[in-house]
Amino acid sequence: MNCLEERIAKDGIVREGNVLKVDNFLNHQMDVELFREMGLEWKKRFEGKNINKILTIEASGIGIAAVVALEFGVPVVFAKKSKSINIDGEFYSAEVESFTHKNVNNVIVSKKYLTEEDHVLIIDDFLANGCALQGLIRIVQSSGATVEGIGIAIEKGFQIGGKLIRNLGFQLESLAIVDGMDAATGSIQFREQ
Ligand code: 5GP
Repeated sequence: MNCLEERIAKDGIVREGNVLKVDNFLNHQMDVELFREMGLEWKKRFEGKNINKILTIEASGIGIAAVVALEFGVPVVFAKKSKSINIDGEFYSAEVESFTHKNVNNVIVSKKYLTEEDHVLIIDDFLANGCALQGLIRIVQSSGATVEGIGIAIEKGFQIGGKLIRNLGFQLESLAIVDGMDAATGSIQFREQ
């Protein structure tokens, strides 16, 4: 077990509806020392990739991405959720359906902060059905930048997102893959990596 899996096993809470709560160290209170370990691991896994920017999505990706960016020595851009449908030509945008809130958000990134010269590592906390990632990938592609890789803290391997994104040919590195969980018993099974 790696340190993230150990922490999930200790502090993760399984909720009905395939939701894993990790508020104790990732989504509310943040264990930045753990984030640094995660950054070091992604640094190894993406060794040799020419990464000059990290992209994440508001809100819970931001803390992880900021600490990981220190390890890579690059800036972080986060896609903002925007209520306005009247986005002018200054932004790239994509629609993203939220797995946890069940609503659809327009997410935007200013054209100033993503250009065709950028080589992007996308970072997020969870991968479930892959909507958030597909939105971020669309935004990178509309800017002409390159997706060099995708780093996810917790992939729920029993949902479709991981398969979908890997089938598109991206290097997707999830630090913990949960293959099963049970709200009644609280048990969590990890995939051997
Ligand atoms: P997807 O777009 O892949 O369906 O879902 C990814 C997004 O939904 C993540 O950015 C994360 O914020 C949220 N999410 C999905 N599943 C979970 C979960 O089990 N627990 C928590 N805390 N967030 C989740």
